[in-house]
Amino acid sequence: MADLLCRGWRPILRVRSERVRWYTSVASFPPAVPTWSHPPSSTQISDDEINRLATRPRRPVTLADLVKHGRPPLSPDALLSSANYTLALLPPRLAHRIQCLRNLPFIVVSNPHISQIYNNYLHSISTLLPYHKRHITTLQEEEQFTETMADLVHTHNNTIPILARGFLECRKYITPSEVTKFLEQHLRARIGTRLIAEQHIALHMASQPGSYEEKGVSPYIGVIDTALRPAEIIRNCDAFVCEICELKYGVRPSLILNGEVDAEFAHVPVHLEYIVTELLKNAYRATVESGNERKPVEITIAAAPNAPHTKLEALKNLLVSQDTSHDFSQEGLTEYCNTEGDAIPLNSAAQSITIRIRDQGGGIAPDILPNIWAFNFTTFSNNQTSNTDNDNIDALNAISGSGGGNSSSIAGLGYGLPLGRAYAEYFGGGIAVESLYGFGTDVYLSLQGVGKIS
Ligand code: ADP
Ligand code: MG
Repeated sequence: MADLLCRGWRPILRVRSERVRWYTSVASFPPAVPTWSHPPSSTQISDDEINRLATRPRRPVTLADLVKHGRPPLSPDALLSSANYTLALLPPRLAHRIQCLRNLPFIVVSNPHISQIYNNYLHSISTLLPYHKRHITTLQEEEQFTETMADLVHTHNNTIPILARGFLECRKYITPSEVTKFLEQHLRARIGTRLIAEQHIALHMASQPGSYEEKGVSPYIGVIDTALRPAEIIRNCDAFVCEICELKYGVRPSLILNGEVDAEFAHVPVHLEYIVTELLKNAYRATVESGNERKPVEITIAAAPNAPHTKLEALKNLLVSQDTSHDFSQEGLTEYCNTEGDAIPLNSAAQSITIRIRDQGGGIAPDILPNIWAFNFTTFSNNQTSNTDNDNIDALNAISGSGGGNSSSIAGLGYGLPLGRAYAEYFGGGIAVESLYGFGTDVYLSLQGVGKIS
């Protein structure tokens, strides 16, 4: 388990909020647990097995699903149940991704970067399969499984820059709209798969003797902060993006934060961090490049007590956003609700938060506007001349080594808006951009939290 802290857990912690980072420094941690003497070794997986797993229905993940095992520290039974729940969900998801990668044109899958990602998926499913074939029944098995999964999560850390590089190199063989279609599905599915894995790892860590959760009442349930304050995240992201601006442009834009600055809701902090960082980078870049760096960016937080849509609309959003093949007709959705019953809580009492980011950076030209949601589309270039593919490669070089978020480059990859929207839509939120060309841009980020959590 000490090994888990060194290899697997640290990279995950790096993307988690400051408030839980000190896990790694708890002196009495990790606990002395004997390791499973015969951990299942990875097996070769056949194409038939992949096809069989890929056809299994993939349920959308809700915030309520993620908190259903309870608040840490979890009882041994709850921990085993979380491990088996995780184990049931992951292999079909990985198998479906493998199938989608295989469906890309052969010359694209043969690209070394794309095939690296394909092999990572193959390795992950082969590693999990031996666990999948039997139930996890003891805490030792659960410990071994968690360690294995932490390694797998780490393996997939750099997927976004690697895929971006691969698709850039293959641009002759695949159209931008095909790339966007693939990445829309792939990156959304990845958000869910990582959440499922990270949630169990976090619950496991928080259930160990000496953990933060054991010492007092923590607002965290795994990766979910039940008392997340958007204002706090915004201030942290502002400090980070201002540093980038200072390095790039020599100026620090200013921010006015108003509205319901004390609002709290239950959400995944790393998702909000990613989205706000990307939206602030766009707003600050536009502000500085339009010569309006003295005009502050204004962020307003609004909190509404109830989710704005009906139950069926919320379900439809959830199914669409999470790439679950489904019948979206009214009858299909009603049947889905009836068959799944309470297993799919729809956050009907969820609090919804809307954040408006208003800049005076000149807005977005009408000919640019239709492209802003495409992966790889950017108007940024390092030498501020034209939008060439080399500029994208420069942006990639700047972020290689990071998980694709929190990059130290102000722009250039063209992933900020589409990936930010994927994160927002994952739990039924969204991003809308309103451009007042010649003046500035308003971006509305809406997010839904879970309702009351006991
Ligand atoms: P990147 O920032 O890497 O270019 P994004 O997906 O974040 O990629 O944004 C895509 C494009 O949308 C930007 O290059 C820019 O042209 C435009 N854009 C996004 N937000 C704004 C904004 N607030 N003001 C002006 N243009 C914007
Ligand atoms: Mg951007």
